[in-house]
Amino acid sequence: LQKYSSASERERNLRSPICCIMGHVDTGKTKLLDFIRGTNVQECEAGGITQQIGATYFPIENIQQRTKELKADAKLNVPGLLVIDTPGHESFSNLRSRGSGLCDIAILVVDIMHGLERQTIESLDLLKMRNTEFVVALNKVDRLYGWKTFRNTPIVKAMKQQSKDVQNEFNIRLTQIITEFKNQGLNTELYYKNKDMGETFNIVPTSAISGEGIPDLLLLLVQWTQKTMFEKLTSSNEIQCTVLEVKVAEGHGTTIDVVLVNGILHEGDQIVVCGMQGAIVTTIRALLTPHPMKELRVKGTYLHHKEIKAAQGIKITAQGLEHAIAGTSLYVVGPNDELEDMKESVMEDMRSVMSRIDKS
Ligand code: GDP
Repeated sequence: LQKYSSASERERNLRSPICCIMGHVDTGKTKLLDFIRGTNVQECEAGGITQQIGATYFPIENIQQRTKELKADAKLNVPGLLVIDTPGHESFSNLRSRGSGLCDIAILVVDIMHGLERQTIESLDLLKMRNTEFVVALNKVDRLYGWKTFRNTPIVKAMKQQSKDVQNEFNIRLTQIITEFKNQGLNTELYYKNKDMGETFNIVPTSAISGEGIPDLLLLLVQWTQKTMFEKLTSSNEIQCTVLEVKVAEGHGTTIDVVLVNGILHEGDQIVVCGMQGAIVTTIRALLTPHPMKELRVKGTYLHHKEIKAAQGIKITAQGLEHAIAGTSLYVVGPNDELEDMKESVMEDMRSVMSRIDKS
């Protein structure tokens, strides 16, 4: 780690936390992200199935703006939040595992009308195995019979204004779901009643249609990660970067979509990537990102950057990327690095990717 002279200097150097969205199909994972972004990826997808991993960057100014009704003076130190969206469909379990492996914290989406479902349990098993923190978004609260809509409102305020019947139904369903988590060996509680954060996982009731609870979810994600993952989020210079997709982009040739987890990438950096016919050594021609709050997967105009700090979803253009392999690490060649050693390390990823493909 770099040496910082003061705590505030360290705070300024925090990287953005990475968050992924997991849960059973149809619980509203895509809709939640769409609501937060103000976009409509859900309706664009064939049958609503997310087929690739996506990445969206939310600048902290945007999060501050959206959470000020909940807590106007919240001290947010990270530069933003990078949200990774993994495919829900059964046949993409290798992509789900790849996406969730990158995140610092996960949102586990549960449909309040259905409780824990098969893929919720599968997600929980992945999270437990990796020891990943998570927050439960108890979604679709607007479907409680008689729910009155209060758009974008903090959940406690919205709940107070509901009828006794709605509040009762909510409490019954919540209690049932807390029991279901208990049966999986996990303690959970509404985040605003949770006195044992760290041991007891937080539940945030949300609606991805009308936005109740969304300010709560955003604020909790940022505050929790910056408080409990300070060391992990203190940027070091070490590059940690994973290739998500290899694809042809109009006007750019073959490009790679990557998630930069740690460190800084520059235009002109010499990189080493795992390739089907051996290590690929090339130079970054352009570093492209979608506009903030836009999806890396969705076609649009890109912003060009001279350098980019983690965490970000980035499209890299360079020569010779045709046979790059998704799911592997990207390395940057530094002045003291042995290129041959790096070529060897980069190819070690190939075996683990191949074994995952065999299993899925
Ligand atoms: P995913 O498979 O988890 O990504 O689920 P989607 O985002 O595709 O949502 C599945 C369905 O549930 C869609 O018809 C959504 O419009 C609907 N949906 C998602 N979130 C909510 C919500 O909060 N309230 C209501 N009423 N419907 C929702």
